[in-house]
Amino acid sequence: MESAQHILHHILLHEYHATQTGMQISDNHIRLDVKCDKDLTKLAKEELEEKVNLVIKQNIPVNKKIYPRDEVPKGIDISKIPDTVKEVRIVSIGDFDVQPCGNAHIDNTSEIGKYSITEIKRKGSSTYRIEGIVTDK
Ligand SMILES: [Zn+2]
Repeated sequence: MESAQHILHHILLHEYHATQTGMQISDNHIRLDVKCDKDLTKLAKEELEEKVNLVIKQNIPVNKKIYPRDEVPKGIDISKIPDTVKEVRIVSIGDFDVQPCGNAHIDNTSEIGKYSITEIKRKGSSTYRIEGIVTDK
């Protein structure tokens, strides 16, 4: 679930320039709130779903590694992590997505299952909520 969320967030950020404002994961449900200049309610759910599932299907290894803060590889944004944190855990989904994260992740995207979007709705003038579920293949 957590790994599926990273994939979804990466696609939204890089293809739709949407930035995450909130996130909640429970059971098999992922709720992601984003800010975006484009009207995401006009986006076909299937299109976004398919993009996430295409990444999942590539059976990409998910690596977790803890770095001392000053040894985190360049290019990884750790600006949101408080200065008091001296060791940063980096989660990499192959070369696809690399970001700091302390949460539990699976070892390979093949373990995720299938991602489906149940709803994309507007929350504010430029904020949207994307509700989705992960089911067994
Ligand atoms: Zn994570």
